[in-house]
This record gives sequence, structure tokens and C-alpha cells, in this order.
Amino acid sequence: MNNIPDQVQDIETLIKLQQAETEIIRLKEILEKFEKEKNKLGLKLKQFGMALQENKESFSKAAFICSDLEKEIQMVDDRIVKSNEKLRMVKTNKEYQLFLREVDDNKKRKDTLETELIERLDEKEKIEKVVQDGEKEYQLLGVQIGSEQNDIEKKTIEDREMLDEYLKSQAKIGKTLDPSLMNRFAKISKMNQGLAVVNVKNEVCMGCFMNIPPQLYIEVQRGKSLISCPQCSRILYHVK
Ligand SMILES: [Zn+2]
Repeated sequence: MNNIPDQVQDIETLIKLQQAETEIIRLKEILEKFEKEKNKLGLKLKQFGMALQENKESFSKAAFICSDLEKEIQMVDDRIVKSNEKLRMVKTNKEYQLFLREVDDNKKRKDTLETELIERLDEKEKIEKVVQDGEKEYQLLGVQIGSEQNDIEKKTIEDREMLDEYLKSQAKIGKTLDPSLMNRFAKISKMNQGLAVVNVKNEVCMGCFMNIPPQLYIEVQRGKSLISCPQCSRILYHVK
């Protein structure tokens, strides 16, 4: 039985399959890196958006406190008006003193509330400015990040096309190989981070960089059978 031509054929096919696999790994790494860059940019925008949202909530709280204070001042004001009305209707000195004190107390309360309102309005205004600036910045950042992401996307078009081609060629080559050989390749590839078929130079396996026995080197050079590296199990070939 002479199956030597088959083996030679197999080695050539395996080398092509390895080339496709190596390219697939390389392109996937590149594309993954780009994807990470894009995600990082997206995260930056998201974090900015979250900080902006927090500021918006602070502004809502500040606005609520101010409106509460304004309502309370209005209530105290109403009380002052009522006390003043009562004051005009009093008949006794005791009543007069009582309502006068009511007016006084409410005026003091109003003063305190107004002082607080001024402070709170000032705070609200500051937060409002922060929110307005933040919104402008967020919009600009969104445009900038969107365009950076687009640039990344454009850069990957060619790589994606190449990856697609190599995947197709990998599948095509795979079909031409004997299933048991394909299994062997897949197993070795899995064990060695995707590198199953390697060159031998000067008796050194280019996969694990260990020396291989001279007799085995001669056999690899002959290229008439599939030889595995005794150290790393990778299938060896020799470029003449
Ligand atoms: Zn090796």
C-alpha cells in the first residue's frame, strides 16, 4: 500500500489549515482589542451621564427645598396679616399684647426663613449651572465618542472581511481532511493555543523550541509521514 502521496498532501493541507487558524486567531485578537476600545469609550460616556444624572437629582432636591421654604414663608405671611387684623379689633390691652407678640414672632420666623431661602436659592443656582454645563459637555462628549467609535468601526471593516474569508477557507480545508486527522489537528491545536502545525529548523521545533532527535529530523525532512514533536505533540514539517 502506497499512501505516501496522501501524506504529503495531508502535510500541505495541514499547513494551509494552520495558516488560516493563525490568521483567525490574530484577527480575532485585533477585533477584540478594537471592541474593548469601543466599549471603554462607551463606558466613559455612560459614567459622565450618570454623574450628570446625580447632579440633576441634586438640583431637583434643591428646587424642592426652595419651593417648600417659599410656601412656608407665604403661610407665615398669611399669619402676620391675620394677626394684624386681630390687632385692629382688640378690646383689651392683654389681647393687644398677645397679638402683637404673635406678629413679632411670625416676623422673626419669616426673617429666618428668608435668610435660609436666600442661601438655598444660591445653592440651587450653582447646581443649575453645573447641570447646564454638564449637559453641554455631555452632548459634545457624545458626538466625540460616537465619531471615535465610528473610526474604530471603519478600521475593523477590512479585518472583519479577512476573518470571514479565513473562516470560510478553514471550513473548506477542514472538509478535505480525513476526520481522524482533523480531530488530531483540533486536539493538538487546543493544547497549544491554536498552533498545531509548526516548522522545524536545525533540529529545533518552532513550536516549543526544543531539540528533536536527529533521526526524527531526517524523517520530517523527508516529509513522507506525519511526525509529531515529542515535547509538544505539534505536527512538524520542514521547509526545503
Ligand atoms: Zn515542539
